[in-house]
Amino acid sequence: MPSLPPRYRGRFAPSPTGPLHLGSLSTAIGSWLLARQAGGEWLVRIEDIDPPREVPGAAQSQLRALAAFGLVSDLPVLYQSARSDRYARAIDLLRSAGRVFDCACSRSDLAAQGSIHRRCVPPAGEHRQWAIRLRVEDGSVVESEDALQGRFHQDVAVAAGDFVLKRADGYWAYQLAVVVDDAEQEISDIVRGADLLDSTPRQILLQRALGLPTPRYLHLPLVIDESGQKLSKSLSSIPVDPADPVPALRAVWAMLGQEPSALPASGSAESRLLRVVSGFQADRIPRALSAIDFGPAADRS
Ligand code: GLU
Repeated sequence: MPSLPPRYRGRFAPSPTGPLHLGSLSTAIGSWLLARQAGGEWLVRIEDIDPPREVPGAAQSQLRALAAFGLVSDLPVLYQSARSDRYARAIDLLRSAGRVFDCACSRSDLAAQGSIHRRCVPPAGEHRQWAIRLRVEDGSVVESEDALQGRFHQDVAVAAGDFVLKRADGYWAYQLAVVVDDAEQEISDIVRGADLLDSTPRQILLQRALGLPTPRYLHLPLVIDESGQKLSKSLSSIPVDPADPVPALRAVWAMLGQEPSALPASGSAESRLLRVVSGFQADRIPRALSAIDFGPAADRS
């Protein structure tokens, strides 16, 4: 099995779909604190491979907002939009191993199979666009350990089926790009939101198909409501104000389950964060978070 590099390297990988909000800031700060505590590096990668969902200027505004907290990538920021040749190379490798196939199935073809792709429907005409999918064998069960959420397992054939690596509209899929880049950037530890826990088994399967090491994972809690539903219109979606970063830092500190008094009471957001690295207690991070848990701390005054 390919092994991980011996030193800690983390990353934050936002998609430039809007301004940085409290939810993504908490991922950025959580991953940064864990990297710094481990004496490791922390990189930023802009995942700009989905132009229809992107907002012009969002990547620069996210980077500016991060900088207001002193969160600056230790290596030049990587932009996925510039990495098409790497993704194409990974597809070539998978194709020569017989692991991928071209697929012209439409959404409605898939709906007839419960939206999970297991076999292609013969295309009706010549005009269809082709996606590239990973062939997922029956019984492709992935088991792994998340440092916060515990053991997880998924039968990828059942949960996701043959998943898309290159979309029919010609864009690269997130699952492929993230796996290629995490490996090439030698990321040892992935810290991100729990909304991606469900994608992790697909990524591990893809790492194995490409002969790449599997990083360690820690999925930070999402904000959920009383019925356990993910809240998208919650405090976590409040945009971060780079001109006044301290209230957002306090809110994130609470979202990460930390004692309010452990955060230095004075100084810029950047200096408070720097001074609190050794005081950060990873074992206080909650597995899940309700909106009320961090409500008072999100006081923006
Ligand atoms: N780009 C993804 C997002 O903004 C995160 C990807 C990852 O951390 O793996 O949701």
